[in-house]
Amino acid sequence: MGALNLVTDQGPRPYPAWKTKGGGGGGESFAELAHQIYQDDRADADSRRLLLAFAYVITTRDFDTPKEMWRQIRKALGRDDRHRYTDPVRTLIEHDRPRYVPPDERPGGYDPSTRRCDGPRLRPYKERPYKAEQMSLLARVEQNKRDAEDFRNTDNVCGAPGKHRVLEKQPSTGWYRYHWFCPRHRDHAVRVQEQVKAQNAGAPEPIPNAGGLLPCYFEADWVRLYRHYTWDSWEPPVYGVRADDWPIPGKQPVPQRARLSLVIGGAETEQE
Ligand SMILES: [Zn+2]
Repeated sequence: MGALNLVTDQGPRPYPAWKTKGGGGGGESFAELAHQIYQDDRADADSRRLLLAFAYVITTRDFDTPKEMWRQIRKALGRDDRHRYTDPVRTLIEHDRPRYVPPDERPGGYDPSTRRCDGPRLRPYKERPYKAEQMSLLARVEQNKRDAEDFRNTDNVCGAPGKHRVLEKQPSTGWYRYHWFCPRHRDHAVRVQEQVKAQNAGAPEPIPNAGGLLPCYFEADWVRLYRHYTWDSWEPPVYGVRADDWPIPGKQPVPQRARLSLVIGGAETEQE
């Protein structure tokens, strides 16, 4: 990504805290910046809306004070009649805060199919008790095929709705997910929890996989700003606030970056 800052031929702008990353000669236009933003696969619709508003104000508008800059960013974002009483800047910056989002909490919300019991299956699953003699031969063959291909049979898992969950953290990335178990497999859940205890305790802080796009395009005291728009105790990831700096597990080696972590005791299995 090219360099761009607010120091132009006309001299430095009076508010130097804001400049796009790189800090070099710059001269990038709004169109060039917008092109980069539209090409950025990490950005969802909300992130693009925010990045484009920043890009527009910083590359094309004049402002003398931070207050004026924020006013123009709000104006660029426009009003949202669905959320008339919330501040879009706050909502969108909070959305861009660097963080790890586990697979179960991805947009799209709650998906009951991810909360199926991982316990071992004892008898083959059949979709419903059916009277084979009342079905045509073809229908019976089709039904048997569907049953054979069902995940409960191919993976040999119970598949009943999960009630007990066990947290598992990956030892290298700190990424985590929940394993679910139905009431009949409660003992199994307890055993699995015991098995992952040491692994979880040694797991690092998760590598962020969401947010952190504003710092890829614009330079500022992002830790302070994210904190201002989220909560006072917000802490940046040990991997930094810029999404550009985060390793992508499976594609790049993961450097060990340990931060002294607070060990929170207590059981990690919860009943829902
Ligand atoms: Zn089960």
